[in-house]
Amino acid sequence: MADYEAVIGLEIHARLKTASKLFCSCPVSFGAEPNEQVCEVCSGMPGALPRLNEKAVELAVRAGLALNCTVNSRSLFSRKNYFYPDLPDGYQTSQFAPPVCEKGYLDISVKGRNRRVGITRIHMENDAGKCLHVGDATLVDLNRAGTPLIEIVSEPDMRSAEEAAVFMRRIHALLVAIDVTDGNMEEGSLRCDANVSLRPAGASGLGTRTETKNLNSFRNIQRAVDYEIARQRACLEDGEAIVQETRLFDADAQETRAMRSKEDAHDYRYFPNPDLPPILVDPARVEEWRRDMPELPGPRAARFAADYGLPEEDAALLATDKDTADYFEAAASLSGNPRRIAALMRGELLRECASAGLKAGGAPMTPALLAELARMVDGGAISARTAHEIFPELFAAGVSPEEFAAERNLGQLSDSGEIEAAVDGVLAGYPAEVAGYKGGKTKLLSFFVGKVMAGTGGKANPAVVNELLRSKLDG
Ligand code: ADP
Ligand code: MG
Ligand code: ZN
Repeated sequence: MADYEAVIGLEIHARLKTASKLFCSCPVSFGAEPNEQVCEVCSGMPGALPRLNEKAVELAVRAGLALNCTVNSRSLFSRKNYFYPDLPDGYQTSQFAPPVCEKGYLDISVKGRNRRVGITRIHMENDAGKCLHVGDATLVDLNRAGTPLIEIVSEPDMRSAEEAAVFMRRIHALLVAIDVTDGNMEEGSLRCDANVSLRPAGASGLGTRTETKNLNSFRNIQRAVDYEIARQRACLEDGEAIVQETRLFDADAQETRAMRSKEDAHDYRYFPNPDLPPILVDPARVEEWRRDMPELPGPRAARFAADYGLPEEDAALLATDKDTADYFEAAASLSGNPRRIAALMRGELLRECASAGLKAGGAPMTPALLAELARMVDGGAISARTAHEIFPELFAAGVSPEEFAAERNLGQLSDSGEIEAAVDGVLAGYPAEVAGYKGGKTKLLSFFVGKVMAGTGGKANPAVVNELLRSKLDG
């Protein structure tokens, strides 16, 4: 049976973080009563003229810069014709050729494998309204109509569902880091369509693709793409042809379903919108925006891995958002042991933050307090196990770990006199095991260590215990 390779390209829609809509001054805030935020432009009244929101252009260009794109100093709005009840103009105002940005890339890494994913284009467009189904009636709410979006179209460069999900995570982190979108996926601020096809492994042409619409979580992207790969493989193995179509992912049933056959670009009859002049972007402004760009999550993760010796996964996790990354760097420099800080953040701090609904920067446990805790573990003042046990309390109270440990007498026993007494007690209590060890069963060492640890309530310094046991048993 032929072996297949999956080919995946994503189209990602991001709602831009502007105060008003793309072509009118209606606000774009979430949660207003239906049709409260509507005017003659965004409700498609004949003769009403659009006026472009400059902020939307700036945000689209910033996204393009972050994705290594060429920024076109002149681009056009076109009408993309189709009928939806919640699309009052009868067309979507979008960009066909040229778009505001094109020809970029984003580097991702999955399980240590690097891949450069091409960005075909980024274009601006307006969102449609929403249909509400109430009993037998369908009502139209135009509050969302005219909301500014960018669509980021990738090249078909991804090869697995996991790569697609990681790509989307990176895009999310990046767009949020540069304040282009609020990134709220539950509210639909960032959503994606996944194009999937298969081809015989090693082939260079492209197979027929399907497009699964409106995936609104990383997990759904991964599941929908995996489902599509398996479904297409089964079709091909049965000798069936893949039908080019648009599909929907049903998250409850965990499957994709055919929705409609897929249009080609010419079906939309794109043509330049005569109501809107060309969009001109001043290259000098573009250079200013390029200079303003903060350190982006991808390069920051690479720097964390190189400068602090963090494992790639920890580096990516800690660099995802600026707040977490800043917290990490502050604590790492105070503690002198970045890997310990990374481990404590990953294993403890971020979990506590998530359950308390806090960002790291707003946690009662400041970077200085986390660094203090890390130094105590490094210096042997308390064990890693004790640090783990007291972490939730320390986190919530925001008190000095040293004072906390001293008050509760949690200090690790490093005094070899006390530990030696415990070791002697254990060796006297298990003569058969001692004989076994001396006869060659050296694996029994961990048995003795366990007994001593239990006898000291987990407080003995394991390194000291090991050393004492060895000198007594081997000596
Ligand atoms: P549209 O879906 O709007 O018709 P395109 O035809 O340009 O637009 O394709 C959009 C997306 O589909 C891009 O992300 C592209 O990488 C991806 N794509 C195109 N052909 C294939 C294919 N054979 N397999 C997988 N993805 C594809
Ligand atoms: Mg498409
Ligand atoms: Zn309006």
